[in-house]
Amino acid sequence: MPLFQVENLHVRVEGAEILRGVDLTVGTGEVHALMGPNGSGKSTLANTLLGNPAYEVTEGRILFQGEDITDWPTEIRGKAGIFLAFQYPEELPGVPVVQFLRQALSARKGIDLSVLELRLSIMEWMKRLDMDPSFGDRFLNEGFSGGEKKRNEILQMAILEPDLAILDETDSGLDIDALGVVASGIAEVRRSRPELGVLLVTHYQRILDRVTPDVVHLLVDGRVVTSGGPDLAKKLEAEGYEAWRST
Ligand code: ADP
Ligand code: MG
Ligand code: MG
Repeated sequence: MPLFQVENLHVRVEGAEILRGVDLTVGTGEVHALMGPNGSGKSTLANTLLGNPAYEVTEGRILFQGEDITDWPTEIRGKAGIFLAFQYPEELPGVPVVQFLRQALSARKGIDLSVLELRLSIMEWMKRLDMDPSFGDRFLNEGFSGGEKKRNEILQMAILEPDLAILDETDSGLDIDALGVVASGIAEVRRSRPELGVLLVTHYQRILDRVTPDVVHLLVDGRVVTSGGPDLAKKLEAEGYEAWRST
């Protein structure tokens, strides 16, 4: 049974059909990249996978570990083991990183780690992710640089131990530092958790120089029009999307 499957997914947003039959399968331990020109529906797919109610699935389904999760609310998806980086609030005034992680972990696993246990585990991960030890005491996203936001996201992923991570790299402000954080963070988390499947929705080809995907999918006009290995990303980088645009 594949880890994650999207089958013939059709999605409407404000009355317009944006996804028009997306098929995608991510196996255990695989990293998949989803690329495509602006407006092709990448963020729409990411939002739909998140369970954003503004995105209406009119046909097809989403399966996680064999279960149909198409109608599941966001938090139940999280509990089941899907990490959706962008579901987390931009800024929570007055909530330190450590406290937020504790709440998120308790929601995900139904266990309450002691503050000390969690601190130890967070400290170990911060070291591995090359983060400053004082980071845990800072308030969530308050004054974070792009790179710090990304480190925080990857730290959440490491602590929550998901089976599937869906990362939507839409932030146009992402600098090379932040892309590097995401790339090395994914690699570091996979070292401990080789079974982790990753769907990296990316608007930037250059991140794929740092994360080598097992499979690259090209989304055009709401459909996956072709899939291939890392070579496909290189080819798209060299040739652009023009040849794949519908007439
Ligand atoms: P991408 O992330 O690949 O650039 P999007 O998913 O953001 O593409 O957008 C795909 C299409 O859906 C675009 O034509 C966009 O205008 C439309 N769209 C996306 N979200 C909304 C929305 N909330 N309301 C109306 N149209 C939307
Ligand atoms: Mg867009
Ligand atoms: Mg987008």
